[in-house]
Amino acid sequence: MTEAVLTINAGSSSLKFALFPVQDDFPALLRGKVAGIGTAAAFAARDHDGQPVDQPMSVASDVSPDALITDLLRWLGRQMPDVDIVAVGHRVVHGGRHHDGPARVTTALMAELTDLVPLAPLHQPHNLAAIAQVARVLRHTPQVACFDTSFHRSQGPLAQMFALPASVTAAGVMRYGFHGLSYAYIADALTGLSPHAEGRVIVAHLGNGASMCALYKGRSVATSMGFTALDGLMMGQRCGALDPGVVLYLMDEMHLTSAQVGTMLYRESGLLGVSGISSDMAVLESSHAPLASLAIDMFCHRAAGELAALATANGGLDAIVFTAGIGENSARVRRLICARLAWLGVVLDGEANARHATQIGAADSAVAVMVIPTDEESVIANAARQWA
Ligand code: ADP
Repeated sequence: MTEAVLTINAGSSSLKFALFPVQDDFPALLRGKVAGIGTAAAFAARDHDGQPVDQPMSVASDVSPDALITDLLRWLGRQMPDVDIVAVGHRVVHGGRHHDGPARVTTALMAELTDLVPLAPLHQPHNLAAIAQVARVLRHTPQVACFDTSFHRSQGPLAQMFALPASVTAAGVMRYGFHGLSYAYIADALTGLSPHAEGRVIVAHLGNGASMCALYKGRSVATSMGFTALDGLMMGQRCGALDPGVVLYLMDEMHLTSAQVGTMLYRESGLLGVSGISSDMAVLESSHAPLASLAIDMFCHRAAGELAALATANGGLDAIVFTAGIGENSARVRRLICARLAWLGVVLDGEANARHATQIGAADSAVAVMVIPTDEESVIANAARQWA
């Protein structure tokens, strides 16, 4: 039998999973995703060679999240009969202010994480439901929670506090930051790829959700997301940083309920709201509609501004790293962002950028510019290995 750890990233409508051998640094045996949970569920998985699996799992289009986990564990058993799952690692969006690393799941931890649900109502319940369901099926297998917030606990108070009354800060209204598993992966990957790994780096995680993180010596110094995953950059469907007076106006003058405002800010804004076409960057890039271009330009304008602000946190900038779906694949977005940063000495090598090379900065650029694919699953797997 091969001992393996299973990683699970359970979202509101998708579930990503991967199986890694217990031995350190071995690549995934299998990676997969179920998208469209609750509406039109669709399964896809690839083996260690990146080939689609022979016998994909059949998923009912209206499968419940709990049934999906049970079916997935059964399918994995059939698909990989020689593999013994000895630990399960989960992405958990919120670990609160104290967890600065992964934690073994216990009854006490589940209670603590349940108390954090109001801070991440769209994500935390799904993460915790997946842990509970795995516990029902694999009763004696250790589970590990890996928090998106914990990487940012290295930040000082200036970066973590809002300018709000002290009593509100004491109640936990502070900047937690997210995408920490991705930043942890990039910080680690940089050590093998760049002379600036210990320097002043800004990582731009540009996916459906998007944020940036200023690293110094591989640790988070500041980040664009704050109390919730709404803050900072413009995203696929989220508005990003917004004058809080707009929220008051929407409620007091336009008579929207808090639920309606929430839906607008989380689901109807960003690239989708501005373009009126799609939240998907690839779709907007292939469109000739003026509003698609406007949305892309606004995304890049906002990203460049946030990047410049974050450079202040480190008193300068040695390297920029682009990652996640847009950061890894959109030469246009990287070009538009970097063009707005020319005054910082950022110069792209157009040809290297077009082919998504690892190093895309020009020889005379004052700042190194890189593209590094992220791998949150491998960070979760490494955490799970500690308890395997
Ligand atoms: P998530 O935050 O859901 O994990 P991803 O990191 O997969 O998202 O990023 C999804 C985004 O990446 C989408 O906006 C998608 O259009 C964009 N993307 C993926 N491939 C390309 C491409 N070739 N060109 C432009 N955008 C792309």
